[in-house]
Amino acid sequence: MNDILEFRQGVPQDGLVSSLLREEAEAARLQVLEYYEILDSAPEKSYDDIARLAAYVCGAPVAIISFFDRDRQWVKARYSTATYAEKTLDLPRDDEFCEVALHEPGHILQVPDMMADERFAGHKLLQGAAKLRFYAAAPIYSPAGDVLGNLAILDKRVRHLTDEQCTAMATLARQVMELLEMRRTLIGLSDANAKLGQQNVTDALTGIPNRRAYDQKLTEEYSRAKRTGAPLSLLLIDIDHFKHYNDTFGHPAGDAALQSVARVLMSSLRPYDFLARYGGEEFVIILPSTDLTDAIVVAERVRTLVASSEFPHRKFSVSIGVARLDVEAGARALVQAADNGLYRAKASGRNKVVIGKLNDSALAGSATP
Ligand code: GH3
Ligand code: MG
Ligand code: MG
Repeated sequence: MNDILEFRQGVPQDGLVSSLLREEAEAARLQVLEYYEILDSAPEKSYDDIARLAAYVCGAPVAIISFFDRDRQWVKARYSTATYAEKTLDLPRDDEFCEVALHEPGHILQVPDMMADERFAGHKLLQGAAKLRFYAAAPIYSPAGDVLGNLAILDKRVRHLTDEQCTAMATLARQVMELLEMRRTLIGLSDANAKLGQQNVTDALTGIPNRRAYDQKLTEEYSRAKRTGAPLSLLLIDIDHFKHYNDTFGHPAGDAALQSVARVLMSSLRPYDFLARYGGEEFVIILPSTDLTDAIVVAERVRTLVASSEFPHRKFSVSIGVARLDVEAGARALVQAADNGLYRAKASGRNKVVIGKLNDSALAGSATP
């Protein structure tokens, strides 16, 4: 088939139905364009190279890759020789070339002499300083056949493209589409990676941050506290007699209870507090910029909130160990101190908040009570 489609004069008569169909098709086309996330993207060398190649192959001083947005033609890449660098104009969306490209798509549109064509005789391109006369464009087709934009060349000479040049233009326009597809694949991959990253730091059962996320957060907060001198506190929280609940009501009920407790804990947080599942039926809350006095207040609030909340089958209580960071001793010592407090809370009857000491000699070698 001949690649050349001479510009045809005359517009088909539109009835109401066909104009509605057009609107629908245009909405679908814009959705496809959106999918590639190309509009307003930064300049990219690969697109610039294609524009440059189009200009070389066709012996034209100007080449432009543009995409047809709702109300503008957005230029992704533009090549021009020095003479035309400042002179070529941005084309509006209701430009005649755009209309023709969208509604009469062919392989290549050629307007040998814009001045001699009554539809283009008043065109902006002719009025500008550039004095361009010749226009040719290859549509950029989506795989489904939507025209997303075009690769256009302009020249001041009245002329035609050769069949080889037309083939080259169509090929380069297809390469633009290949770049768009590649772009879309990369976006998909980075979305998938982000999701995977999210899964890696989220506890599957409760949906709150997991142990790994907690480790990262504690490292960050420790560095910040060391750098700024701000206090940092930690709560280790363990559900009381959870094994009994599991044994009595079954593991699935235990799972549901863990989810409920996580939700209650979540609701007790201030915006900058960080809750994570520490493991099993244990949770941890990192309290940045919080000294021991305030940490105890938070811990008491958490304890009473859990104790007063309703859960399926029976009530729950939690025991909480509290500690404040000693920068010299380090982050591990902070956790150890909170753990010592938790041990004491269990030993003293559960449903308690106890401040943990790092060197709690009475606890050396002891097991959970
Ligand atoms: P204590 O008051 O001393 O903390 O007693 P406890 O029964 O809560 O503590 P223990 O360590 O003896 O038992 C913890 C139980 O938590 C045992 C385990 O089956 C249960 N558990 C840990 N993780 C999960 C989980 O993901 N799902 C369910 N359903 N149970 C869990
Ligand atoms: Mg436990
Ligand atoms: Mg427990």
